[in-house]
Amino acid sequence: MRTIARRHQADPAAPHVVICGAGFGGLSAIKGLTRAGLRVTLVDGHLYSTFQPLLYQVATGGLNPGDVAYPAGAFIQRYGAIYRRGELAAIDAASRRIKLTNGHELGYDYLILATGVSASFYGIKGAAENTFGLYTRADAIALRDHLMAGFERLSVGRGDLSVTVVGGGATGVELAGTLAELRRTVLGATFPDVDPSRVHVRLVEMAPALLGPFHEKLREYAKAQLADRGVDVRLNTRIAEVTPDQVRLADGEDLPSDITVWAAGVAASAEVAGWGLPQGKNGRIVVGPDLRVQGQDRIFAVGDIAVNPGDPAPQLAQPALQMGRHAAAQIVKLEGKTATEPFKYHDKGIMATIGRRSAVVQLAGGLRMRGTLAWLAWLALHLVYLLGGRNRVSTLINLTYRYVFWGHGGTVIVGDEPVSPAVARREDTPVNRQ
Ligand SMILES: Cc1cc2nc3c(=O)[nH]c(=O)nc-3n(C[C@H](O)[C@H](O)[C@H](O)COP(=O)(O)OP(=O)(O)OC[C@H]3O[C@@H](n4cnc5c(N)ncnc54)[C@H](O)[C@@H]3O)c2cc1C
Repeated sequence: MRTIARRHQADPAAPHVVICGAGFGGLSAIKGLTRAGLRVTLVDGHLYSTFQPLLYQVATGGLNPGDVAYPAGAFIQRYGAIYRRGELAAIDAASRRIKLTNGHELGYDYLILATGVSASFYGIKGAAENTFGLYTRADAIALRDHLMAGFERLSVGRGDLSVTVVGGGATGVELAGTLAELRRTVLGATFPDVDPSRVHVRLVEMAPALLGPFHEKLREYAKAQLADRGVDVRLNTRIAEVTPDQVRLADGEDLPSDITVWAAGVAASAEVAGWGLPQGKNGRIVVGPDLRVQGQDRIFAVGDIAVNPGDPAPQLAQPALQMGRHAAAQIVKLEGKTATEPFKYHDKGIMATIGRRSAVVQLAGGLRMRGTLAWLAWLALHLVYLLGGRNRVSTLINLTYRYVFWGHGGTVIVGDEPVSPAVARREDTPVNRQ
């Protein structure tokens, strides 16, 4: 098992907190625990934490994969914790031990589960096998490589390239908008032989509107902006089946789709069922008001994987950050023999970008913005929340290049060696090691 040691050794007799998951929720718990003198071990299957909100930029050749991945070891060292690479396989709550998929075991006094979620295919035939996801860095690389291979195929004169994005939430809107801009502004510089009119971008959403949680005016704006960019937006449209080269709609219509991206919903991954904890809607782990897992006194769940059925928080970065900090504070309280407090989500607002100088922002106080100002706010916030100074600098440079030069002969970050979507989901393929 690979271990990165902490710089400041905590008291070896101090209570030990194991955190599974180096995402927003898991990382935000560390500081409060180590500052209170507790020993912390962070466990994740990856060596890095992934900044999911910018994965679509990697998939569309605007950012490098490394721009959105921050080494877990660098983060925990700052706060005096330990990192262990591995994935949680089983929990023995009675003896307070966990087992990892690599066979290693760890003892804990408290356990925080922050393992996030992955795609939910709702049993739709062919969706798991024939669509691309956008949850990991490997997903983004696989999608980028398929797009590039598609453009390359067009450059030698064969057929059209149809891309279908399934799901009209923030991820689907951002991806469809960026793909349309890529077609309009950058394709000619990178693939001069390709006629952009042979690239088709479609966004399919089963609800009557895009961006469900936003105000109606912002939803309409997003739809109009996508239409301006040439995206074929299909609302009230349900997918019945996905094959390698088409999507079949519930009304029986078949649409060509060389690349289908699944951004339609999330659920806990299948292995969570093996942890022996109560699961609610979409397999999320059921927690009580203080974020302790129902029926457990030393196991917490935070972020996307956790749900308090009485007061569910949205599956976004802010709730995950706030929940991680709250779980840490409750563990400190338990050690101090004081009563825990319920978690209350402080909603700061939501935002989504559609493309260059086009975004929607809805603040908690009711203020709404759209257009260039909203887009600048989106850009600034994402740079602030990216982990690591190096990532911020490289992302700033790459996004500046993308938004300033893509329309003036700039090129995309190209990919290579595509594999099939199902193969791309496995972590050990050559494409995923880039
Ligand atoms: C494409 C995309 C775009 C998004 N855009 C936005 C946005 O613009 N704004 C916003 O607020 N939110 C956005 N979100 C949602 C946001 O990213 C999530 O809500 C947030 O990442 C949840 O944090 P988390 O800590 O619960 O899980 P994650 O950040 O998903 O982290 C989970 C971690 O757990 C690890 N893990 C998984 N299984 C195991 C295991 N068995 N053992 C150990 N470790 C494990 C994973 O490797 C990962 O590092 C987006 C999500 C996606 C997918």
